[in-house]
Amino acid sequence: PIIAHYGGDPGNLLQILRDAQEALDWLSPETQGAVARRLDIPVTRVAAVVRFYTHLYDTPRGKYRVLFSHNITDRMAGSPALMAHMLKRLKLKRGVVSDDGLVSVGKTSCTGMCDQGPALLVNNRAITRLTPRRIDEICDLIRARAPLANWPAHYFRVEDNIERADMLLGSAYAPGEALRAAIACGPTGMMAEMRKSNLRGRGGAGFTTAVKWEACRDAKGDERYIVCNADEGEPGTFKDRVLMQSFSERVFEGMAIAGYVTGARKGFVYLRGEYSYLRAPLEAKLSEMRRNRLLGMSICGVPGFDFDIVIHMGAGAYVCGEETALIESLEGKPGLPRIRPPFPVICGYNNQPTVVNNVETLCKVTEVAIHGGLAYAGTGTRQSAGTKIISVSGDVERPGLYEYPFGVRVSQVLDDAGAYDAVAVQISGAAGQCLTPQEFGRRIAFEDVPTSGSFMVFGNTRDLFEAALNYSHFFEHESCGFCTPCRVGTALVARIMEKIHSGHGARYEFNELTRLHQLISTSSHCGLGATATNALQDIMTKFPTVFDRRLIKRDFEPGFDLDAALARAREVSNRDDANAHLAEGVDA
Ligand code: SF4
Repeated sequence: PIIAHYGGDPGNLLQILRDAQEALDWLSPETQGAVARRLDIPVTRVAAVVRFYTHLYDTPRGKYRVLFSHNITDRMAGSPALMAHMLKRLKLKRGVVSDDGLVSVGKTSCTGMCDQGPALLVNNRAITRLTPRRIDEICDLIRARAPLANWPAHYFRVEDNIERADMLLGSAYAPGEALRAAIACGPTGMMAEMRKSNLRGRGGAGFTTAVKWEACRDAKGDERYIVCNADEGEPGTFKDRVLMQSFSERVFEGMAIAGYVTGARKGFVYLRGEYSYLRAPLEAKLSEMRRNRLLGMSICGVPGFDFDIVIHMGAGAYVCGEETALIESLEGKPGLPRIRPPFPVICGYNNQPTVVNNVETLCKVTEVAIHGGLAYAGTGTRQSAGTKIISVSGDVERPGLYEYPFGVRVSQVLDDAGAYDAVAVQISGAAGQCLTPQEFGRRIAFEDVPTSGSFMVFGNTRDLFEAALNYSHFFEHESCGFCTPCRVGTALVARIMEKIHSGHGARYEFNELTRLHQLISTSSHCGLGATATNALQDIMTKFPTVFDRRLIKRDFEPGFDLDAALARAREVSNRDDANAHLAEGVDA
């Protein structure tokens, strides 16, 4: 029935595997073989997809699969101790399934709940604000084999935590308002408004939205597609979660307007796997909009204006936030970034012209439709029009969402959030930049401090080395492995950071990290590798004492005990000359 539900289309392979795992707990070789046969594709293709996505399992993981968020802000809030507590209560080792096949406990990069951490996922459902007592209760429910549907509903409550609202989060919205305004302009008129607005993408890169739409509209193709990138995987970012939870009408109308202007008739929302709990309410919202003729055929009664949306779930791969990797994933493949050009606006989903826009960008489209391009461009700065939503977490009194006109100073955000002892702010997640207090006067804008929206704040009791180590593990785990500089480089960085952490670091390691930063950032295939060591490099150069106090060895110290590694080989060959490999003039 799962395969039938997806029309037997191999393009839906990822969705089929997600649902199959939901029903069977893991994807055994037999399950993978059956899927391959039913879809008439090689089993190696199925296996490649299963291996690529973190949340798909080709080994048993237990009826209850618990994953603690490993993000630095969750760690600061106490997640390592809570995971240790759960492992002790369940008499388990991390990553090992219990003997009765009931439960496994592990960690995951980031759950997108940094404003209400520490958090965990159980079978893809988020539980926030964990305490030792809540962990005890969860252990009892697991031992009692209670179905998730019978767990207390308040465990799964995810709050919006909107602390400062402006144009988007604070204004009333009537369903269909933006669509009707766009229709009144006509496709050409609406495109003109988009140009006047100077709306730039909110995913981080800041590309002008109208330019993207025009390129898609003018490209040759049988079909066009609009993709909403809701794969919010940047550590510390959770604004898109709130927009999808409480402002989804705006997102969907923004997509429909993009379709109206470009000629696309189909849209996809690529929703990150950690936000699975949003899928059912979003499907319900889509149905409601179809009933109200805000989606589907002849939208708002306009003949020929047909547009509909499908929700596509991710399965735990940060790299799928990159638009070409996302498109590969939409096509049911591993999310490997494509070579560009051609860009997706020319050759995207199924090789057709495709616009990929961030969730927040699509919400902003509705503002442009309602207020007009010039009015929209009147807020913010010359190069950064409109407002920006910032996700604030870490050492602040009031974590949550803060919306400001572009141009707001970092210090203003920190004051509003109650960050009274901040010594550093990590902006734009692990791939972004780390600001010192001397930089808190800088402004949030594409021309000064651009951001996808993540603000992770570190107070004066924090050790920034822990943050840098966390980022190095994050990128080692999230590298898709396609190109050598990133695959090998991020692993080398993580090993060197661990060596320094364990007290065996010297200036040699520090210099090696700098050399690797230059290599990885300049020779990687996609943006993930290009930015993987940015934050680390910032911490190394702007916060020198963080490393100085750990570089305690005067000289290089091998991090690998060659002698110990050869012990087994000596045993097998009946040799006991422990230092044979060091002796000079040893016969081969
Ligand atoms: Fe994959 Fe990293 Fe290369 Fe990007 S840079 S393609 S994530 S290995």
